[in-house]
Amino acid sequence: MPRKISIFGSTGSIGTNTLDLIRRDKQAYDVVALSGAGNIVLLAEQAIEFSAQIAVTAYDDRLEDLKAALQGSGIEAASGANAIAEAAARPVNWGMSAIVGAAGLKASMALARHGGVLALANKESMVCAGELLSAECARFGTDLLPVDSEHSALFQAMNGENRNTLKRLILTATGGPFKDFTLEQMQGVTPEQAVKHPKWNMGQRISIDSASMFNKSLEVIEAKYLFLCEPSQIEVVVHPQAIVHSMVEYVDHTIIAHMGSPDMRGAIGYALHWPNRAPNPIEPLDFAKLGDLSFSSPDEAKFPALRLAHETLTMGGYAGAVFNAAKEAALDGFIARKIGFLDMAALVEKTMYSAQIEPIRERSQTSLSEVFEADTAARKFVNDRI
Ligand code: NAD
Ligand code: MG
Repeated sequence: MPRKISIFGSTGSIGTNTLDLIRRDKQAYDVVALSGAGNIVLLAEQAIEFSAQIAVTAYDDRLEDLKAALQGSGIEAASGANAIAEAAARPVNWGMSAIVGAAGLKASMALARHGGVLALANKESMVCAGELLSAECARFGTDLLPVDSEHSALFQAMNGENRNTLKRLILTATGGPFKDFTLEQMQGVTPEQAVKHPKWNMGQRISIDSASMFNKSLEVIEAKYLFLCEPSQIEVVVHPQAIVHSMVEYVDHTIIAHMGSPDMRGAIGYALHWPNRAPNPIEPLDFAKLGDLSFSSPDEAKFPALRLAHETLTMGGYAGAVFNAAKEAALDGFIARKIGFLDMAALVEKTMYSAQIEPIRERSQTSLSEVFEADTAARKFVNDRI
């Protein structure tokens, strides 16, 4: 029996890499739903190639284009955030959540209710609603497998280990394109410079978040909710070669590191075949050619996002939702050239500590509607100041 699968955010970097793996063994999968946003041509091409049941665009004003592109195929077309959530509610054995931003949260929650595997690339789901999403997975017996390369690495380094003997999680970061810039140089950088990641080939938003290390800060928060450890147990180390994808230290000071080429098909393939392993098309490591691997501490004066992540973790409740939404709004402002690169962290910090936002973020996580309330309030706070 082919496995029923759906991919939300199928036209993005994670989505196309996922389909690249599926394509190599098509008869093993039965594709239920695919979703995208503005790239209708690619979404329709994917839906036809993989004979999906339904293709959904996030944009209502692109529905007619999608219908036209799918004409005669018998594939359903739909649009909007609710249609994405409804498509994610169609039963599958394996669901990939790879929409970018908090916009991916509803798909993650719906995929958590199938009792199969939720492959989670959308780290924002964990940052905004880690407790709610984990509870939903537990309630429905769904296996939550992280696809973020660091968290996939940590997960693999914990295979068969007693979680009570875990001492430290060490997340690696390349340091991004501005690792060696001065603060003065960072002030003037453009979105075009920020999007050029030295090692990983990813979507625009996560690439810029990597340059500011906001991506790593989201990953620190994601790690806490995935692995239920104390904020003080999570560290970040700069490792420009991106060969060690993360490490786990145990009480006996043994460190288990996960290594591989920087290619997301490694982590996606692991989630696809878990609990087994299968061959994949990524470049094998040649240690003699690699030469030196280096490690250093991140510069928190240049990358305040890391400090803010730890403060967010200490706050708990909806602080993650506020942090993420403020970051998303600030990132929009930077991409639109309305604010500078370093203004992003300053705005996020201002939001976290504003008297307006404090009562919202301090509530404990109880419902998705409150997550969206916190999200909306934080975006408004930032947008009013841009
Ligand atoms: P991307 O920008 O390449 O793709 C995003 C996908 O989401 C596209 O299919 C796009 O059409 C869709 N989308 C965008 N806005 C939407 C909206 N408002 N509503 C519904 N769909 C929307 O992004 P990506 O790099 O593939 O990242 C996807 C997710 O995976 C992010 O959460 C990112 O943090 C995470 N992630 C990505 C990588 C990577 O290597 N690219 C690594 C780790 C984690
Ligand atoms: Mg990552």
